[in-house]
Amino acid sequence: MQFSEIPGLFELKKQLISAHKRGKVAHAQLFSGRPGTAVLPMALAYASYLMCENKNDEDSCGTCPNCARIRKLIHPDIHLHFPKISAAENKYEKVLAEAIPRFREFVAESPFGDLEAWVRKYGQENKNLLISREDSRQMLKNVSMRSVEGGYKVLLIWMPELMNPSSANAILKILEEPPEKTLYLLVSYNYDSLLATITSRTQLVNVPPNSFEEIRNYLIEKGVDQSKAEHAAKLSEGKVGLAQYIASEGESQAYEDFQQWMLECWKKDLTGLVRRSEDFSKSGKAMQKGSLNFAIELIRNAVVHASGQTPPTQSAAETSFVGKFSEKLGFEKLEKTYALINEALIHLERNSNPRITHLNLSLDIIRVLNG
Ligand SMILES: [Zn+2]
Repeated sequence: MQFSEIPGLFELKKQLISAHKRGKVAHAQLFSGRPGTAVLPMALAYASYLMCENKNDEDSCGTCPNCARIRKLIHPDIHLHFPKISAAENKYEKVLAEAIPRFREFVAESPFGDLEAWVRKYGQENKNLLISREDSRQMLKNVSMRSVEGGYKVLLIWMPELMNPSSANAILKILEEPPEKTLYLLVSYNYDSLLATITSRTQLVNVPPNSFEEIRNYLIEKGVDQSKAEHAAKLSEGKVGLAQYIASEGESQAYEDFQQWMLECWKKDLTGLVRRSEDFSKSGKAMQKGSLNFAIELIRNAVVHASGQTPPTQSAAETSFVGKFSEKLGFEKLEKTYALINEALIHLERNSNPRITHLNLSLDIIRVLNG
């Protein structure tokens, strides 16, 4: 990962590079930001920069042996720690050996991905993932080993918020007094839930969300067409990961999902709606909000259509759907549905239970559609 592969955030990149140039690289740094933003890519680009054999004033070279191995996460001096299923001491090596290749693939495929994306890749949807006591023993082991190649030794800890307190406490001492040239890069999406003993021992690197323009341009560079890129960037709340999802298969998936959902409400298919609310609750906060925002966007377009204007729709399929949907419901029902979804979104933002919120929303929509 190079800095140039991360859209925008120039100020932060400059700061990180400048700390290196001034010889002020803090030994324990906490990269913090919201899920779906560039937190992990930034930490990886930073590690590549520090270890690159051929860096310039702005970036790592991307091709030297260190850059190449960091890209694949196979550098012997980069030790990975991330949430996984817990295992008894005698099973730990096996769990680790199975999880690491998966994690490498996950980072290669979706460096902006969040915990849900990792859970799906890992194939452990029904388990609680954590950074366990055994992981912290492994960290202590990593720290006691010499750097294989004589340069930096990096412990990358992805999602320290999922460390249980005893494993967090086990690493406090090494966070405080690391051996020379040992770096801890912690990558967190939930700063507020971290133990104060961790935050007080690390230097905070705040990774902000990207701007609308940065995300739109990034998607266009990746080959997404302009109108789709704008649409995804608008819904993404500054999260590249979410924007990529919306712009890719997520878009047509979300679209089909919405039609199916409305059909279930129309037919009062309670079994389907209960299942839907369960799937919804498992999909993760960003996706939940993303799918409701998507629904709001569609209904807004349908309202515009119902009032006799032309909505700013994206594709022929959407224009046709919005047209039909709008004619079927009419202005008043559309407005009521719109208000209900908006309200559900506000509840979600206040941390209501996603399953109950979604089911209640469906029941309310049934009333509107069949009223
Ligand atoms: Zn390099």
